[in-house]
Amino acid sequence: MLPSEFIRNIKAELGDAEGAALCESLETTPPVSVRLNPRKLGCREPFADTRPVPWSLHGRYLDRRPAFTLDAAFHAGAYYVQEASSQFVGHLLGESAEGRRILDMCAAPGGKTTLYSTLAGDDGLVVANEIDRRRAQTLADNVRKWGLGNVAVTCNEPSRLAEFEQWFDIVAVDAPCSGEGMFRKDPASREEWSEGNVRLCAARQDEILDAAWRALKPGGILIYSTCTFNRTEDEGSVERLLDRFGEEVVEADTAECEAEWGIVEGRVGPVRTYRFLPHRTVGEGFFAAAARKAPDAGGRTRTPKSRRSLFANPDRAAAAELARWVNEPEKMRFALVGDTFYGYRAAQYDAVRTLSESLAVIYSGVAMGQIFKGRLRPEHSLALYAGLRRDALPSAELAGEELLQYLRKAEVRPEPFAEGINLVTAGPLPVGFVKRIGNRVNNMYPNSMRIMNK
Ligand code: SAM
Repeated sequence: MLPSEFIRNIKAELGDAEGAALCESLETTPPVSVRLNPRKLGCREPFADTRPVPWSLHGRYLDRRPAFTLDAAFHAGAYYVQEASSQFVGHLLGESAEGRRILDMCAAPGGKTTLYSTLAGDDGLVVANEIDRRRAQTLADNVRKWGLGNVAVTCNEPSRLAEFEQWFDIVAVDAPCSGEGMFRKDPASREEWSEGNVRLCAARQDEILDAAWRALKPGGILIYSTCTFNRTEDEGSVERLLDRFGEEVVEADTAECEAEWGIVEGRVGPVRTYRFLPHRTVGEGFFAAAARKAPDAGGRTRTPKSRRSLFANPDRAAAAELARWVNEPEKMRFALVGDTFYGYRAAQYDAVRTLSESLAVIYSGVAMGQIFKGRLRPEHSLALYAGLRRDALPSAELAGEELLQYLRKAEVRPEPFAEGINLVTAGPLPVGFVKRIGNRVNNMYPNSMRIMNK
C-alpha cells in the first residue's frame, strides 16, 4: 500500500487524474536496464539486441532480469546494472565532462560514479565520496570492477570536501532522499516514508548543497538529483539554494530532450529541472537539476593544509617492474602507499596526492600490488584495470562451470594455466588472477567479491 499522505500530496500537486496515473504506475513491474562499460566491450557486446535507453549512450533496457551474479561479464565490469532514469545525469554533462575534476558527493554504491568515470576519461578524475564506511567499501569494489583507474573513493562528511574550495569543475549531489521514486522497485521503501522524514531529508540536502557549492569552481556545473517526487526535496531544495547563493547561480547549457522520452522539463529561476514520472517515462521516479556557478563568482581556490604524506616514490627497479604491467606507462605515475603500489594517470597524480594528505581516501587509481624479490604480486584490481597490458603475463580462458568455480573462489584445475601468475579471462574479458605452483592452483579471487550461490 502507498502511504495515504503521499497519495494526497501527489494528487494535490499533479491533479487528481495525473496523480492517480502515477500511483497506478507504481504498482506495475519496473523495467530492467544496464549501462555498458565502453572500455570493456571487446569484440562482443553483451545485450546486443536490446533497446537503447534513449538519453544514455551506453544504456540498454533488458526484456527480463537475468541472474546477473552468474554472468562473468558482470563480474568483469563490462556493465553496471543501473536504473534508466538515473542514467540521465550523463546526458546533462555529455562530452563536457572529459578531462574534468568531478566530485560525486553522495556516491555509494557507485551507479553515477562509474558513469562519471566513463565520461571523465583517462585524464579526468572522479572523487567519489560516501559518508557511510560500509557503503564506501561497496563503492570501492564497484570502482575497482569498472576499472578505469580515474576515481578516488573518499569516506568523509560533505563539509570536509568543501574545504577543497572551488577545486572541482563539476559537483554532483545525488542526495539521500525520501525515496518516493523507489516505491515500485523497492516496496520496503513505502514503510520508511513519512512527512517527518521528508523534512529531515530536505534539511540534510540543504547542508550537502552548501558544501557542494563551496567546492565548485566559478564557471563549474552543479548537478543535483534525487529519486523522489517530493517538491520540498526537489524544486524546493533548488529554491533554497537560490535563496542562499542566488547571485552566483546562472543557467547551465541546455540538455536537449525529445518529446517522446516523456521527461517533464521545468525551471526554478535560472536552474533547469527534469522530472521522470514512471507513467510517462520508461524508468523509475527521478529528479535532476543543473546549474552553473557564475564565472565571475569571486573567491579563490583553496585546499586544506596537508596533515600527512602517504605517497612514496617507488625506486627505479620497482618503477620498471610496474611499468611492465600497463599499456601506457609513459602516461602514468606510480606511488607506494603503505605496502601497496598504486598507478595513476600522470595528469591526476598531484590531485590524488593532495586529497589523500587530508581526507580519508580508501581507494584511488589502480591498486597494482606488492613487490617481492623484484616481481609484482598483482592485486585483483589490476586484472580488472582497462589499461592492463595483456602480454605482461600468460592468460587462460575459463568457461561454464569451471569459470563459476573460479568466481566462487573454489578449487580450479591446474591444466589451463602456465607456472606462476596467470590472468583468468571469460571470453576476452579479464576476471582475475591465479597462481599455479606445480599441480596446485592458488585462486586469487578476492573473498569479498566471490559469488556465494551454488
Ligand atoms: N549516487 C549513488 C548511485 O548512483 O549509486 C546513490 C546515492 S544514494 C541516493 C545517497 C547516498 O548518500 C547514500 O549512499 C547515503 O549513505 C549517503 N548519505 C547519507 N547521509 C548523507 C550525508 N549527510 N551527507 C552525504 N551523504 C549522505
